[in-house]
Amino acid sequence: MKFGIAVAVLVALATGLLILFKVGPEIEERKGVPVESRIEVADAEWKKKLTPEQYRVTRKKGTERAFTGEYWNTKTDGVFNCVCCGQPLFDAKTKFESGTGWPSFWQPIDDNNVSLIQDNSLFTRRTEVICSRCDAHLGHVFPDGPAPTHKRYCINSVSLKLEERPGK
Ligand SMILES: [Zn+2]
Repeated sequence: MKFGIAVAVLVALATGLLILFKVGPEIEERKGVPVESRIEVADAEWKKKLTPEQYRVTRKKGTERAFTGEYWNTKTDGVFNCVCCGQPLFDAKTKFESGTGWPSFWQPIDDNNVSLIQDNSLFTRRTEVICSRCDAHLGHVFPDGPAPTHKRYCINSVSLKLEERPGK
């Protein structure tokens, strides 16, 4: 009888673990290779260089309020660079209307220009997106974007600086 209970508990535990692994992030971690050499700047230097909101989001993994950022609704053509180090991150041609209030892209300008890291904060499992050159926090990537990648890079406006494409 006791043996039966022990088996039942073990089976329940194993099932729980299996479910836990199943709901892991659907987007794998990936370390990008920056275009130019990496930038290592002391936290105090970033604080001096950036506005308080840029610093809070990019260096302290903050999130800007939805529908308040500079670029959530912009349709201007160009390239979105990292606000901290200037590395190109996203092309306006891959920007789409997600309805979330944050600029959303279906792919980075190059997979190497960002790094993807598992983020278990806030009791959820998400995949964080950071700049591969200076580690600036950019936002998160979710597996519910449009074709062709079906990914949604949900990025804070304040982490980006739009460089308009010259000549039209
Ligand atoms: Zn950067």
